[in-house]
Amino acid sequence: MYGCDKFCTYCIVPYTRGKERSRRPEEIIQEVRRLASEGYKEITLLGQNVNAYGKDFEDMNYGLGDLMDELRKIDIPRIRFTTSHPRDFDDHLIEVLAKGGNLLDHIHLPVQSGSSEVLKLMARKYDRERYMELVKKIKAAMPNASLTTDIIVGFPNETDEQFEETLSLYREVEFDSAYTFIYSPREGTPAAKMKDNVPMRVKKERLQRLNALVNEISAKKMKEYEGKVVEVLVEGESKNNPEVLAGYTEKSKLVNFKGPKEAIGKIVRVKIQQAKTWSLDGEMVGEAIEVK
Ligand code: SF4
Repeated sequence: MYGCDKFCTYCIVPYTRGKERSRRPEEIIQEVRRLASEGYKEITLLGQNVNAYGKDFEDMNYGLGDLMDELRKIDIPRIRFTTSHPRDFDDHLIEVLAKGGNLLDHIHLPVQSGSSEVLKLMARKYDRERYMELVKKIKAAMPNASLTTDIIVGFPNETDEQFEETLSLYREVEFDSAYTFIYSPREGTPAAKMKDNVPMRVKKERLQRLNALVNEISAKKMKEYEGKVVEVLVEGESKNNPEVLAGYTEKSKLVNFKGPKEAIGKIVRVKIQQAKTWSLDGEMVGEAIEVK
């Protein structure tokens, strides 16, 4: 799908990409079937706000949950979607994702701030409580789901206490990782008319503290993989070392491992020997290259 109707005050996308427009489900299902038959292993359903999928259909009541429910029946190993907006993440989608199979349980759920006041200024259309309720529902339905997020620090008027609320929310959810940003105004957005009144020094300090927490929790979660066997979709040679292959787990963790070049483009099992903050090192196990 294309476009976004959310109009978060800091974001230029609704002005540049226009209104939400969804591709017809039959067209997507047919395309995924074709890709599966051609041997593709992973599909990502993309949209600026992919949870709003189908809201623009006038002739039927059909959402992302319905589409995922059909796609999970297709013989393709992995289906992802991004990016979610918490406001449009409905119970039906959670129910369908909980069925598992080829629907991966890695959910990127941008929160942007842990403070309800800041979220209001951002016009995110949910508050801290509602976001936490959604996280609880997702975790109850999918106890092993990994959650990642996006966070902006130093939004206009953000106080120290409000920033602390972002840290406490991060700790409470225990995200696997996050993309973190310093706020900077985008010309033509409502937020650009607000006074950008958090000094750059303070913004940088906040980003540093947030990143320290992101790294701490990510390192802890990565450590849990040591000694475990994961399934990796092999993308190619590692950027830093052509002797090593690199690929991603179902939960989007980068894995570097020694294995034959024939493994590229396939899903293989890798035993994790060492966890780093942002990647895992391991060794391919078993004779069979393809497990799916
Ligand atoms: S931040 Fe995302 S949801 Fe908000 S207006 Fe931009 S694209 Fe839409």
